[in-house]
Amino acid sequence: MSPIRLTVEALDLPLKHTFTIARSSASVARTAIVRLRWNGIEALGESAPSERYNEDVASVIAGLDALELGDDPYALERLLTGLPPAQACGLDIALHDCIGRDLDLPLWRLFGLDPARTPRTSFTVGIAGTEETLDKVREVGTHPILKVKLGGGNDLETIEAIRSIYTGTIRVDANEGWSPEQAVKNLAELAKFDIEFCEQPIPAGSPEKLRWIRERSTIPIVTDEDSKDARDLPALRGCVDGINVKLVKCGGIRGALAMIHTARAMGLKIMLGCMLETQILTAAAAHLSPLVDWADLDGPFLTASDPFSGVSYVNGKIVLPDGPGLGVRQTSGSLS
Ligand code: MG
Repeated sequence: MSPIRLTVEALDLPLKHTFTIARSSASVARTAIVRLRWNGIEALGESAPSERYNEDVASVIAGLDALELGDDPYALERLLTGLPPAQACGLDIALHDCIGRDLDLPLWRLFGLDPARTPRTSFTVGIAGTEETLDKVREVGTHPILKVKLGGGNDLETIEAIRSIYTGTIRVDANEGWSPEQAVKNLAELAKFDIEFCEQPIPAGSPEKLRWIRERSTIPIVTDEDSKDARDLPALRGCVDGINVKLVKCGGIRGALAMIHTARAMGLKIMLGCMLETQILTAAAAHLSPLVDWADLDGPFLTASDPFSGVSYVNGKIVLPDGPGLGVRQTSGSLS
């Protein structure tokens, strides 16, 4: 067997619209593209680290460049254990793509999943003024699910305005932007607009406050920043209705499977989410999506250009690629 060779490079992804959430704003997203070569196979991985979780593209590249990987891409446990999550994510996805290509199987098939059982994804609308928000919603058209970012100060007007022109499902994400008292008040007022659930209403680290909010809200509560990996889940028992699983937070496909199975055992609902990212990361999550209740895998809708293709959508429903591994192809030559 040949040695595993890895190259990792930064990619700046221009976004269609400046993307604003409760704590930050961006018009370009920086991601790390991983290429893994082994036995004539070229596999792809990606990590889109968030400073919220104390990693960035430079730390991912430096960490992965320093690894000695040996010659066995199937040695997932040995290769991935102990790496910081965003680093692990990039390598984990490339290793799974490599294994799928070596076996000539799409990842959904390798995991024994039914590609017909994919959920519909939401389409995320960032924080903006009311008129700009309405323009974005009109642009989204008939897409069946919106995820609206809140925590920007005019939350109720935003949802009221969106509801006046949009009849589909609305879920909201406050990205830790409220206090527990604000959360209870806002959720009570938002309830009349038929909200599917609210993601991470308050800063992470206080499961008992989430329980307090949940006991006072008819809108289900879902964590994101509070549920980084499977180890975070036991503390959330009885405090929330569901969790958002993101590959970059939990170390990739392997970490996501651990979260999904732990959450299922606890009776929690599960969403698969994404970062601002290319089709590589989105496809990696999408292959697991037959296991979950909700998807927020809308990276491809938010980027202005993506050098990779893989997942497609039919009225929001995720269509998994049939090619081996991730089934992702590079469709434009230059990465930057
Ligand atoms: Mg979120």
